[in-house]
This record gives sequence, structure tokens and C-alpha cells, in this order.
Amino acid sequence: MDPATFAARRTRFMEQMEGGIAILAATPVRPRNRDVEYPYRPDSDFFYLTGCDEPEAVALLAPGREEGPFVLFVRERDPAKEQWTGHRLGIDGAMEALGADEAHPIGEIDDLLPPYLEDVTHLYYPFGRQPELDRRVAGWLNRVRARARSGVRAPRVVVDVEAILHEMRLIKGEEEVAAARRACEITADGHRAGMATAAPGRFEYEVQAAIETAFLRHGTTWSYPSIVASGENACTLHYVDNRRRMAAGDLLLVDAGAEFDLFAGDVTRTYPVTGRFTPAQRDCYEIVLAAQAEAIGRVRPGNRWDEPHTAAVEVLTQGMVDLGLLTGPVAELIEAEAYKRFYMHRTGHWLGMDVHDVGDYRDDDGWRRLRPGMLLTVEPGLYIAPGDGVPPELAGIGIRIEDDCLVTETGCDILTEAIPKLPEAVEAAVGQVS
Ligand code: MG
Ligand code: ZN
Repeated sequence: MDPATFAARRTRFMEQMEGGIAILAATPVRPRNRDVEYPYRPDSDFFYLTGCDEPEAVALLAPGREEGPFVLFVRERDPAKEQWTGHRLGIDGAMEALGADEAHPIGEIDDLLPPYLEDVTHLYYPFGRQPELDRRVAGWLNRVRARARSGVRAPRVVVDVEAILHEMRLIKGEEEVAAARRACEITADGHRAGMATAAPGRFEYEVQAAIETAFLRHGTTWSYPSIVASGENACTLHYVDNRRRMAAGDLLLVDAGAEFDLFAGDVTRTYPVTGRFTPAQRDCYEIVLAAQAEAIGRVRPGNRWDEPHTAAVEVLTQGMVDLGLLTGPVAELIEAEAYKRFYMHRTGHWLGMDVHDVGDYRDDDGWRRLRPGMLLTVEPGLYIAPGDGVPPELAGIGIRIEDDCLVTETGCDILTEAIPKLPEAVEAAVGQVS
């Protein structure tokens, strides 16, 4: 991404600060076992404002500061360490590549940072996210407070940066929409490869392998662990074991998304592993499909966040009655939340750099209104775990259909529309690899 994009974000962020100084930090490297680390994935907030993808970095934003508002603390260049773990930006790199006005070695932060907090009124910092860093920030604050008798004033107001930052991230700019589109294209390739691989006798992880191989072929990886859930496993919402052998007659629910430029795709498709729905499966599938169409129809500027969900719940509850899962008037079943036995999650979430992206769902006025540039998933489902009163032909059916929708000026743009979804289209896409 263009450094100018990050600079523009910092400017917009600082325009919303009431002076003072903001401290943002990279997420630490996480150990996996012994001396093996998890692959490093930058913190979305930190990357969004800095473009810095290195661990151990800390950024200061101080609007109005004469020497320039953007200060970075980074790891120093170290040829011996870089021999093992790769290139580091270093002090010069932080200024040249990331546009910092000043850069310092991270090892000197305890000495160098407190003076930046002197005589500023507001400290913007997300307390509670990194306990270790919280303690250090508190220590820096106390260092400044200890100098009160020399006439130095410490910040009086601590503000959570998220109020500003997450509202910014909620409305996607041009470059973010481009990244989202690319993530969705790669996600589409993965789902098509998964569909082609599904067949009775194969294992769920073979489908997972096909999907994630497609992601890797585009030089990227998943944005969250893939859910490949056949048969009754589909009724476990976050099933990630992916180890069952699929059998004829199973439906396969696949929830998988690629990440591109730290932007997430998030798509679910459900299909019969034989390439043919049973009549009961098809009935259920048509209900979820209709619920999704109804919900997507409500994704438009001015509508409230919960309108797609309410629309989906109505269609699904009517469907549960038609299938013989529930009895009674639909309005009463909704009122009593009887549908939650078979549809227990919400119909979507914000989507962005984080798969369940940041941003408030409500404001003082209730569920917030959709605006162009918001990106959300629409993902109704039906999960019929075997149990009392469940007809045998429906028992174990789990279906979810999920697409990624960008709110536009007039309605919405379904970024994942190219992935087979109509019953005939998914039947034709399944099992093409021998
Ligand atoms: Mg999903
Ligand atoms: Zn989702």
C-alpha cells in the first residue's frame, strides 16, 4: 500500500484528537512451542496508521508538534540477528520507508518516551489490550508526574484511541475496497477448488488443503482457520478439526476466507458431497438461500444494522414451520425466540482487516444506520442437530450461506457473488477433481 495512504490516515486521526499524544504499539511475537513462534501478523490498528509490519515497534502521534507529529520506536539494524530472522527497517528505514518524522531505537524507549508526555493534556492509549505495555505506559506517566515540582504537567485525561480509530476503520476507503475485492477473488478461487475436491470417501482436510493451496498460490493465507464441516459437524459453529471422512449423503459446510494486504475475505458455502442434494437438504438449502436474498435486499444506506437480520429471521422461522421443526404463528415464534434452537447466531458482522471487524453496531439512537463504505457479511444459517421432534430426514443438516457485501450509494455490491451458490451451480461445481 502507498505510504501516502497511511500518512492521510494519520492526518485524519490527528484531526480528531484534542491535541495531546497518542501511543500505539505493535503486537508481540507469540511463542507456539519451545523456540517456535507463530507466524507474525501485525495488529490491525497499529498497521492501519503506520504501515509498519515489524514487531516491537511503538508509534507516537502528536498533532501540532513542531519537529513533526509522527515518531517511531523500532528495532535497530543488527546484521548478526538479521542473518537469522531477516531484514529490519532500522532507524533510517523507519523514516525513509514509513515517513516517520523521528525514529529511535526501541531499546531506549523507557528513557526517551516520558519527555513526550510532558505538558500535554490528553493521552490517547488503548489501556487493557497489552498488560505488559500497560504497566510500562503507567510507569512513563508516573515519571512525568514525579516532575510536578519542577513545573512539568502530566496528561490529565486518558482517552481510548479506539473511539476514533475504529470509526475510521469502519468506513472503507478506495484502497481498502480494492484490497477487499482482491481478498474476495482469492477466497473465490479457494472455494471453487474446495468444491471440486469434495467427494464421498475423502477427508474434510483434503478439501481444506485444496482451499488453502489456492490461497497460497496467490501468495497469501487464510484470514481465520478454515471450517470444513461435513454431516453433523456442520451443527458445531466453530468446528475446525476438519478430520472426518465424508460419506455419500453428507452436506459439507465450508467457511473459509483469504487475507490480502491484511484484509479478510469471509465466505461460507454448503454443498452435497455427492454433487446432488437430497430433497430434504434441498428444501432446507432453499430456505437459507431465500433468507439470505431477503437479508441482502436490506443492505442499503439508511437502513439500520439489524434490518437484514430481522428479515433473515422471518424467512428462516417460516421455513422452520414449513419443515415441521416448529409449530405456531411465525410472529409468536420470533417473539419467543423459538427459532434460536435452529438459528442461534446473528446474520452478519463488520468485515475488514479483522474478520470480525471493529466498529460499533449501535449508537445513542439504537442500531446504527448503514452508510456507503461499510463492509459486512450476510450469513444466515439453519442448524438442525438431532433431537426431540426433529424429523429423521432433517436430523444433522447444517447449512450456512455467507457473502461479503459492500454498502454503496444505492444498495450493496456483493463482492463474493462469483462463488457458486444457486443449488444447480453448487451441484455442478462439486467433485470435479478425480
Ligand atoms: Mg465466516
Ligand atoms: Zn462471517
